[in-house]
Amino acid sequence: MTDVFALLKNAGFAEGFLLPVAPYTNWTRHRNDGVFHPNTSPLVDDPKEAYPWANAILICVMPYTPYDDETLVASYYPASNRAYHAMKRLLAMLKEQGIRAERAETPYREQLAAYGVGSRMDNQLLYLEPYGTYFNLQGAMLSLPEPVSYTQQCEPVEVCNHCGLCKTVCFGAIKGDYAFEWKRCVHTYLEGDPMPYDAMKWLPSLLGCMRCQAVCPKNPQKTVPIPDEIIHTLDPVAILRGNRKAAGELIGKNLAGPNRLLRQAIVLAANRNRVDALPYLLKLKETEGERFSAELDYAISLLQKR
Ligand code: SF4
Ligand code: SF4
Repeated sequence: MTDVFALLKNAGFAEGFLLPVAPYTNWTRHRNDGVFHPNTSPLVDDPKEAYPWANAILICVMPYTPYDDETLVASYYPASNRAYHAMKRLLAMLKEQGIRAERAETPYREQLAAYGVGSRMDNQLLYLEPYGTYFNLQGAMLSLPEPVSYTQQCEPVEVCNHCGLCKTVCFGAIKGDYAFEWKRCVHTYLEGDPMPYDAMKWLPSLLGCMRCQAVCPKNPQKTVPIPDEIIHTLDPVAILRGNRKAAGELIGKNLAGPNRLLRQAIVLAANRNRVDALPYLLKLKETEGERFSAELDYAISLLQKR
């Protein structure tokens, strides 16, 4: 019988959980309350509807250690790219073994929490021993030969002590007691929409922020030095100069698209007082002045005052 746990480790994941295909009503309720970004609307509430052939969902964990300096970019993003490619390898291995498997378009964190694996936190992340909230998840729907040995279901345990530290460093999304307002999480601005002025002023790092993880007392305190490759490739001025292909290799093509990375690099160059960005910003104003009008006006006017 195929050992999916051995395969997922070979693919590069640290561990995985095999869950029955069940509805996740909590998530549906939160979505109906308006907690999540509208781009979650295609996710079905009951995966049995979308994957009638599947008898298990495999959720795989790619942990990471935060950088000692996350003011440029959070270590989450390169990890998320590694996790994406690990899942690609895993799907190929499963196919070789004759197992039908597809990437799962489902809310993995919510499914794990509903199953008693890990705990939801006030910052909307999932806490999982021993990683805290420092991990990326990838999931696949599988059609496994019966009987399937599912991960044992547990009683949910409350880990968040509602200390409010994540709320104090947030742009305004975290409301406490698990309440969340997606419009006030800077990750919202990864969807390609123009950034409002207050979000631009606030943007602390590329692709949003992970401040709510960094301050959480429940998270491991270990960090690793930020790699030189990240510093050089994801430098906002280097991105403005046009190295988005190299950036895509680190964080994935999807995130490195202009609507996301370039838009944020424009803003971050200004927030980091990078006066050397001005010539590139002025050039962009000629070619991309319409698409990035708000961001370019913000950055150019800030830097011209320096
Ligand atoms: S910082 Fe405090 S309130 Fe926020 S998730 Fe961590 S324990 Fe919960
Ligand atoms: S990622 Fe940043 S903006 Fe979003 S909830 Fe966490 S601290 Fe707030």
